[in-house]
Amino acid sequence: MPELPEVEAVKRIIGSQIQGHTIEKITVNRPEIIACPSADTFCRRLTGQTFGSMERRGKFLIFPLDGGDRIVLHLRMTGCLLLTAADTPLEAHTHLIFHLSDGKELRFSDTRRFGRFWLFEHGEADTCSGIAALGMEPFDPAFCGQYLSQNLGKRKKSIKECLMDQHVIAGIGNIYSDEILFAARIFPARPACGLTGEEWERLSAAIPERLSYFIEKNEMTPEEYLQGKGQDYRNTPFLQAYGREGAPCPVCKEPLRRMVIGGRSSTYCPVCQAANADDLYRLLLASYGKPRWWSDDPYTVMFQAVLVQNTTWSTVEKACAALDGRLSPALIQALPPEELEEWIRPCGFCKAKARTIKDLTAWFLKYHFDSRMVRQIPGRDLRKELLSIRGVGKETADVILVYAFHKPSFIIDAYTRRFLARLGYDLPDDTAVRHFFESALPRDAQIYGWYHWLILDHCITVCKKTPKCDACPLKPYCRQRL
Ligand code: SF4
Ligand SMILES: [Zn+2]
Repeated sequence: MPELPEVEAVKRIIGSQIQGHTIEKITVNRPEIIACPSADTFCRRLTGQTFGSMERRGKFLIFPLDGGDRIVLHLRMTGCLLLTAADTPLEAHTHLIFHLSDGKELRFSDTRRFGRFWLFEHGEADTCSGIAALGMEPFDPAFCGQYLSQNLGKRKKSIKECLMDQHVIAGIGNIYSDEILFAARIFPARPACGLTGEEWERLSAAIPERLSYFIEKNEMTPEEYLQGKGQDYRNTPFLQAYGREGAPCPVCKEPLRRMVIGGRSSTYCPVCQAANADDLYRLLLASYGKPRWWSDDPYTVMFQAVLVQNTTWSTVEKACAALDGRLSPALIQALPPEELEEWIRPCGFCKAKARTIKDLTAWFLKYHFDSRMVRQIPGRDLRKELLSIRGVGKETADVILVYAFHKPSFIIDAYTRRFLARLGYDLPDDTAVRHFFESALPRDAQIYGWYHWLILDHCITVCKKTPKCDACPLKPYCRQRL
């Protein structure tokens, strides 16, 4: 389907040739391609009028005439305009012919017959072609990142679908939305509401840049245009993403992928257009639903965070069930270590874990077992205090920070690392992993906590040792899918 660069090519090639020529007669073979007025009125009113300088608006062509009337044309899927000598054999599906004063013919053909003409009289408002509802032209001086974020920034739809919304930006279709998103390094299925200010800026720069580039690549002489029968737009060798599934990415050489978004095929690079932590979070949340939270009781969280080290959650549940709802810091403080070891035996490493629980409880006693007092400690200092307790590693400290005291500190464990490695994020160390998550998310303990659960859920149910890639909601993003 012709998009802005192709329609612009038609305007430049045909427009310059018909300007100043008068319509002597019109032949209409398929009246239904004239949307309004009737075919008779269309022919009667236009005969004798002279073409002015052709214009384009989005994917519409506008033919102003010397009497003040104007023709509007949308080529839709397969519409095509050719300017030929009168004795050139007719193309199949030629539905309308303008016979011009210089002896040439402006012919409109359309295999699928979706293209439409409208005629508006001098001063008549265009209420039916759709032009009035078009959004901003990408080359409008007012077109900018702010315009895009204001008009699209609250939408949950994919950014690819939003770019094709003619009510916001005029002229972009399936081909150039892929090219623009590739150039802007944005994954096409991302919900528009997740884009950052910087990404809207990148997008607003890529849109006119890519469209101008393809307008330039479509440049050809009238003879070349005629030779290609108006179908050869010459941009194909220059496309970087669209239609190139499996071919190496022109930037990183990773094979390009294809997915269907809103019923349209979309090609993208899984590396250059990789999702950020926020995209992944939204996708996990949409796929696995609202996750569970650890216990509301801060001491239970601390207790369980130690128990779950090197074991499964079910053994932790078993140990807690044996306590029969009696768990409290005062009880554990008073309990002889051997008895505590016995209680937590199902979780393994009971001697070391009992010692850590005892030390953690002693630390909590410093704050009179009052979690409100602990919450007043700045997160960084609290993390240091927790890490100073024997047996409390970074992972346990972060679980306690997030789930017990609601301090945002992203939890990095074996699942987090596997999650990122499988998706193809090659991050050198935990500092880089922390930055990946924390730089893309609001500093919010609930989000960090939920994210951690979602990753667990994903790794336990889908991205297991032997992953179930076919059922995986992150498949389009994943470089390692098996
Ligand atoms: S596609 Fe497969 S390997 Fe990739 S995240 Fe999903 S389950 Fe894991
Ligand atoms: Zn790439």
